[in-house]
Amino acid sequence: MKHIKDILHNEFNIQATEIKKLVGEVNDNYLVRSADEKYIFKGSKVDAEAIDFASDESVLLELLSNTLPGYFQKPVKNTNGNYLHINDKSQTAYRLFHYIEGGLFANAEHSVSLFESFGNLLAKMDKGLIGKRFLRIQSRKYDWDILNFDYNLKNIQYIHKITDRRLVEYYHLQFNEIVKPLIPELRQSIIHGDANDLNVLVKNDKVSGIIDFGDSTYSLLINELAVAITYSVLNKADPIKWALPIIKGYSEIIPLTETEVDILYYLIAARLSISLCHSAYGRKSNPENEYLTISEKPVLELIRKWITINPVKAADEFRKAANLQGKISDQTKLDIENRWKYLGKSLSLTYEKPIKMEKAAFQYMYDNEGNTYLDLRNNIPHVGHCHPKVVKAGQQKMAQLNTNTRYLYDDITVFSEKLLSKFPASLNKVFYVNSGSAASDLAIRLAKVHTGKENIMVMEHGYHGNTASSIDISHYKFAGKGGKGAKENIMVAPIPITDHTIPEEELIQKNQAQILDFLENVADLQNSNAAFITEPIVSAAGQIVIPDFYLQEIYSFIRKQGGVCISDEVQTGFGRLGDYFWGFEYAEVVPDIVVLGKPIGNGHPMAAVVCTSDIADSFNNGMEFFSSFGGNPVSCAIGLSVLEVIEEEKLMQNAKEVGSYLINQFKVLKETCTNIGEIRGMGLSLGIEIVKDHLNYEPATNLAAHLVNELKNRHILVGTDGPFDNVFKLKPPLCFTKENADFLIEEIKQILFK
Ligand code: PMP
Repeated sequence: MKHIKDILHNEFNIQATEIKKLVGEVNDNYLVRSADEKYIFKGSKVDAEAIDFASDESVLLELLSNTLPGYFQKPVKNTNGNYLHINDKSQTAYRLFHYIEGGLFANAEHSVSLFESFGNLLAKMDKGLIGKRFLRIQSRKYDWDILNFDYNLKNIQYIHKITDRRLVEYYHLQFNEIVKPLIPELRQSIIHGDANDLNVLVKNDKVSGIIDFGDSTYSLLINELAVAITYSVLNKADPIKWALPIIKGYSEIIPLTETEVDILYYLIAARLSISLCHSAYGRKSNPENEYLTISEKPVLELIRKWITINPVKAADEFRKAANLQGKISDQTKLDIENRWKYLGKSLSLTYEKPIKMEKAAFQYMYDNEGNTYLDLRNNIPHVGHCHPKVVKAGQQKMAQLNTNTRYLYDDITVFSEKLLSKFPASLNKVFYVNSGSAASDLAIRLAKVHTGKENIMVMEHGYHGNTASSIDISHYKFAGKGGKGAKENIMVAPIPITDHTIPEEELIQKNQAQILDFLENVADLQNSNAAFITEPIVSAAGQIVIPDFYLQEIYSFIRKQGGVCISDEVQTGFGRLGDYFWGFEYAEVVPDIVVLGKPIGNGHPMAAVVCTSDIADSFNNGMEFFSSFGGNPVSCAIGLSVLEVIEEEKLMQNAKEVGSYLINQFKVLKETCTNIGEIRGMGLSLGIEIVKDHLNYEPATNLAAHLVNELKNRHILVGTDGPFDNVFKLKPPLCFTKENADFLIEEIKQILFK
């Protein structure tokens, strides 16, 4: 401390009575007392750029201290009339500032009035900076600036958990899509840029000062508020609620525009992301410096919570706090009228009051009224809604090339190799189409051409698509409302019995007898079967898992007749079952043809048929097979990214772990709740029967419908399936977590026991 005391004395003419070192990220800061004053003394290693910056910073502080006396650390000039004393030998620049009183915002008791006063002072400060020119600050590219989100991504690799990296990638994607195009119309200014809770001082429930302008930068004006809010709401159960008084206080001094307020949600997410990249790198490069990772834990907690907040809701509340018109208005009636003006009524709408969806992210969906829904209903966004890797794969390829299979391009071979590597060796040829229906249709064509036969055996309650030929093979449709019954060439195998009142051993025997009886009865149609098609878990039947012996018997029967076996993996494929990548694997059968759809493109319309090379050869009979869109480069790039995400994020393992956890939670619930019947399925493909009681497991269709609507009111989306519409179909994106499972169980309990 001796040399500091000397500098203070010799260069600044201050007689220090006490010098105390303060904690800091980069600089050495000291609290200095003289007989009648307190100061902050800063020493920083310098290069030419840093000296320039520090000079600007001092001028800026002088300006603010003069405009708003007492709130900012007024710089003290040295005996030569300079703000900086530079020691060439140690390459250090020293500066002295008047001390301002106040405890740290981080340690203060937080109140609405404190937060309002914070917003107020921030705006007063910014008002003093708007239009001012500090060329050295302006010319600096600073990685903490929210506008430099891109630049920070170089450190994303150091973020420990892949699910957190995905959040950062998602918010980067949203930043590119939503914020970047608006930049030209947004106000820019010099801002403090780092009004975090260690740089803000508090006295008597009011913000008494803002310190450390080392991050001041030329950025969007609204970024001042975004940074301030980010750190003020860390560790808060309801971060939006705490953001509001800051916005209110700020906008009283500087009125905000709707655009500025509307992007705040994404700017805060961007700052959280930057902070995570920064602390992850800091932990790796400088593990001893605790200051570098000080906010890592609360930032992680906040970004994980942020994704559950509907951006529409955030914008609505932020707008109201800024005294602007809210964003939410209920137009459902008009939206429904408009829909039926143009669309046929056979397209159904879900829920008594339909939901208008605005956006979605991973396992969450955001409606236009500000609600966030947990999605367990839709198994198409397999790796998560708007997954950033998948979206980017599609965007990049769409900007590069989209054409058809009549040309050579690498995407189709790269994707096909990867896709086929997931199958047993005999399944080694793939055809691409654009929907599960088209894939079912093609599968049947392949079977007929290959075998020269016409009859198709299908599973009771099965569904395979909406085309004319796939309706013909979908018992659920041709035997359901509006259906015209089975065509002559269709045989329906009975769905396995799932009767709970029968002991397990007896049930197996009954099912064995049922399938053998059936096969014996159809044996007189010898050699007429082209194919048998089923899902391994029959979705429309209410998630009924076909027992292994059942499938094995049918497969061998069909093959003896010279027919082929088709597995429809549209719902069960791509690792959803946890232990198995494809549904047929659990039954230890290998089909000849596999139908793929829904999850293959995570929502992008693509589908495929995988088959043996013999079948593909038979199909090469002179008639060209061509699908305008099937297998195009964009679809292939997307398909590849989905397969990569499944591996990178270990989603099969997650499906297995979270699925088993969920099954267990339902089992526990069943002990006290007689409305829970059979719990079926595996991984994240579950069917939960809703029954009247445990005496005879009579379906409780009305209760199931009530539960579906009540769960929607509690922001959980589930559907029902089965001939009695009483089986909950639970097929969430595979990033579904145990916390999500707990939320579901808790809400079901609340509804059933209230
Ligand atoms: N097979 C199964 C098992 C399905 O669930 C579906 C769609 N629900 C299809 C085929 C048809 O797929 P798409 O709607 O993509 O035509």
